[in-house]
Amino acid sequence: MSRAFNFSAGPAVLPETVLQQAAAEMLDWHGSGMSVMEMSHRGPEFTSIIKQAQADLRELLAVPDNYKVLFMQGGAIAENAIVPLNLLGKNPKVDFVETGSWSTKTIAETRRYGDVNIAASSFDASATQGRYTSIPDVASWKLRSDAAYLHLCGNETIDGVEFHQWPDMERLGASNVPMVVDMSSHILSRPIDVSKFGLIYAGAQKNIGPAGLTIVIVREDLLDQAHALCPSAFTYKTVAANESMYNTPPTYAIYIAGLVFQWIRSEGGVAAMHARNGEKAEMLYETIDSSELYVNHVRRDCRSYMNVPFFLTDERLNEAFLAGAKERGLLQLKGHKSVGGMRASIYNAMSVQGVEALVQYLGDFEHERG
Ligand SMILES: *Cc1c(COP(=O)(O)O)cnc(C)c1O
Repeated sequence: MSRAFNFSAGPAVLPETVLQQAAAEMLDWHGSGMSVMEMSHRGPEFTSIIKQAQADLRELLAVPDNYKVLFMQGGAIAENAIVPLNLLGKNPKVDFVETGSWSTKTIAETRRYGDVNIAASSFDASATQGRYTSIPDVASWKLRSDAAYLHLCGNETIDGVEFHQWPDMERLGASNVPMVVDMSSHILSRPIDVSKFGLIYAGAQKNIGPAGLTIVIVREDLLDQAHALCPSAFTYKTVAANESMYNTPPTYAIYIAGLVFQWIRSEGGVAAMHARNGEKAEMLYETIDSSELYVNHVRRDCRSYMNVPFFLTDERLNEAFLAGAKERGLLQLKGHKSVGGMRASIYNAMSVQGVEALVQYLGDFEHERG
């Protein structure tokens, strides 16, 4: 059996060595006589797994001591409610910069809990392809210096727009406003300075591990502004006080995530990931830009290293393109239903060889059909 190159946006490809290790340990984890799935979450075996995963994640992102790392459930869409329930108990004001489909979705959910101000938006209603293709110029952002937080989506998984530089809140006159960032689709793809953020959240199924696990990294001083009606299992302070064991955590997903953290460490950490991700992305964008058949509309300075959406200039060829890709073992290249076209997600676990195979196919298909 051979493994295909899987360009799914999520749940997404995992490192092969991680899957092999999980398979080898499936029936009997480290001589315990049990699968990780069968263990008590409070027993010594699983306690060692979750502690190691926490420590590795902290080390990979150099998380400062005044931040809590939480393993939660519900995914990023649940966080769209859990974040305001935790942070708007005292001050309802939230600013947003809208850069794509996911920030738009977060805005809609946050309106149920808070006083939302869209400080800037790159939405282009007149575009037929690519309605979000840039990040609004920072100088145009209309931030409120007394907002409870500013929300950004660091990488717009559907539209392929990524922040390669983070705003300087001090220069924007909002130095006391914490940045809250949905990093679901690019966490661990590159180094970040965690101290610049108030809160980071990410569903695991893009760049970390199986669906079902949500990572939250939150500055300790933000733990005291939860709304009274925030469910206990979703109250960061409660989850933190119980070491992510207030309720039963997604144990198997945490175990796999831990193996992925060790894999990233063995590959040289997030700086090495970033270098390789840049190489992969540049190769793909260059192929698209130099062709007549493929087009990507995103402004160059905010093109995502993780998700590369593109369109065929002759959309009648879409079906043939996808069928030919599948024949070569290049899977899940269809774009998100809301935007159409194609999308290649090239997360950490997508190898350079996978992107090379895609680039080869793009050229061959254009040569034959374009
Ligand atoms: C996938 C994704 C989500 C949604 O994640 P769920 O696990 O379905 O809740 C939210 N934000 C971003 C940026 C994503 O990529």
